Formats: sequence, C-alpha cells, structure tokens
Amino acid sequence: VDTHVHLAQVFARARIRGNLLEWLNEAIYPEEIMFADLDHVRKAAGCFVRECIDVGVTTANVFLSSHKEASELCFEAVAESGMRAIMGMVHMDQDAPDALLVPAGRAISETEDLASRWHQHDRGRIQYALMPRFALSCSRDLMTQLGTMKRETPSLYVHTHLSETIKECRAVLEAYPEHSDYLAVYESFGLLSDRTVMAHAIHLSAQELLRISAAGAGVAHCPSANLFLKSGVFPWSGHTTAGIRFGLGSDVGAGYQINPFQVMRDAYNVQDKLFLRPTDLFWRATLGGAQALRLDSTIGSLDEGKDADFVVLAPPCDLPSGGPSENEDLEDALAHLIFTGDDRWVVASYVRGRSLTSETV
Ligand SMILES: [Zn+2]
Repeated sequence: VDTHVHLAQVFARARIRGNLLEWLNEAIYPEEIMFADLDHVRKAAGCFVRECIDVGVTTANVFLSSHKEASELCFEAVAESGMRAIMGMVHMDQDAPDALLVPAGRAISETEDLASRWHQHDRGRIQYALMPRFALSCSRDLMTQLGTMKRETPSLYVHTHLSETIKECRAVLEAYPEHSDYLAVYESFGLLSDRTVMAHAIHLSAQELLRISAAGAGVAHCPSANLFLKSGVFPWSGHTTAGIRFGLGSDVGAGYQINPFQVMRDAYNVQDKLFLRPTDLFWRATLGGAQALRLDSTIGSLDEGKDADFVVLAPPCDLPSGGPSENEDLEDALAHLIFTGDDRWVVASYVRGRSLTSETV
C-alpha cells in the first residue's frame, strides 16, 4: 500500500534542485505544466501503472495534476489496470506558475464533475480525494469551498501535505497569523477528518500529534522523499505514542522509486536513533497503510472476508531460517526480504483475486 505518490511526477524523479520549495519551483511545476499535453499524460499514466504492478503496489493514494482532462485520463488508466486507488485533481490557485493555477469556482465545478464519475467507482475500488496541494498553494476562498464540499459529501477523502519542512511551516504561519500551528489551518476549513491523509507530518508539536490522532486522520510517512529533499526526520515514536494511523508512501517524485522494498529500507535508515523492527516496517507497508487509508476492513492482510489483494514474491534463494525462536526467525526472514529484496522478486500482483499484468497496460 503506497499511501502517498504523485503520478504527475513519474518523469521528474531524482531532480536535485535543493530543498522543498526550490525543488517544487525548479523541477516539479515545469513537469506538471506538461500535463496539459494529453499524449504526455498517457505516457506518464502508463508508466505509473506498470511500475506499481511490477513492484507490487496494489493500492495507491495518488496525487494527480491540476488539469481536469489529464485527471480524467489518469482515472481511466488506473481503473482499467485493475489497481485499487484513491485519486483526485490537485487544487492550487496561488503561489505557483499561472499555467497550473485553476480559480476556485472552476476548480470546484471540475472536481464535482470528476468525483461524480469516479468516487466509489467499481464498488469502491477507485475513490475520490479532494487535494489542496498544501496550505500555501490554495486561497482561503478555495479552502473554504473545499471544506463545504467535504461537509456535503463526507465519504470523500482529503489528501494533502503537512509540515514537511521548517521553512514551509514558517511561511504557512506568516500567511495564517491567527493560527498557532500548521494543522489548525486545515482544521479551520473543516478538512481534518478520519478520511484525511496528510503526507510527511514531520515538524509537529505534541498538541498537533494529539489532534491528528483524535480526528482519526491518517499520515503518510515518506522516508525516501525526506532523505532526498533533506526535510528532516519523521518522529516515528511521536506518531506511535499519539496513536496515529500511519503508513509508508513513496512520494515519487521526491521519492525516487515506487518500489516498497526501497521505501521500507529508507524508513529504517532515516531514523537516526531508533532500530525499527522488520515486522513494524512490513506492517506499515501493508496493513498499517490500509489503516491510514481507512481500507483495513477490506485489504491489508490475508484475513477471511477481506478482498484478495496480495503480492506473490519469489526470492532467488530460500530466506534464512533457524533462528533461536519462531519470533526471531520471522524478524530475520522479513529483514532479509526488506533489505535484500527488490522488484525482480515480484512474480504477480493481485487485486480482488485478479492478477494484474503490466503487459496489457
Ligand atoms: Zn507529495
């Protein structure tokens, strides 16, 4: 389960341009502008779907671009692939190149149109998320209208970014001097709910952690992206102590691979003091991610009554066994899988018992 990934950035990976705000302006916005070109979108959507299937991502929580036609095409491609996804058109009406800005009125009517077609599509395999890119890229008017839409249709998801870098947090508080922290901005517009997923959530106060937990909102921890943009260390213990539902996200294109093995390895490596257990890492990439997306009653584990979403792995050699106890045996086998595994081990990816093949995408 990839809890945070940008389809519109599959071709913009590994562009070293400095920290978050510099990287957005110099590497990412120019790429997303190209989503006005539907041929480009078709190629990106095909690449995204093939890569997800090949690396064993069966469910993805996906950021698109701010173009309606491109979003429509991406929904079609992902729906046809058989994958499970939560997706939406990105909202931004300020603080970015003009070619990416969509005024609030048009953005809302386009979103209503897309959501009416795709929300709960194919018995909920595809769901719709409202996507204010982050607090700085949306006007108060647009945020207010998104909050109204969420109130009128509570089953819609909200997917956004929160507190990725210190510089971003400072800029948000300058734009919203009436609030004492970043999270309060989303709360004030009615955008924090148990179907809200916020990517990063690094630089947070104890108060913010408790409020995320109380709202039942999900967090997408994106360690590869945090390393690549040097954004800071995700407070893993802070989130677990507060009881927050969180999973792992590749955050391609700040993350460089959708490959969940790489994301699990980076989740281990980014922690400078903790020694995370392999079972914790593996759980966050599966059932923990499903919990963050509120899909855990349907997917995330091989339990009776759930949909048969799973991945078949074939390591080239037997995993090590024979540890001193069954428990240690499991930890060691999973560690071997996580740290030495890669996408070549993925033989097949299944959603609802149906094998997905990238050849037909
Ligand atoms: Zn992101």
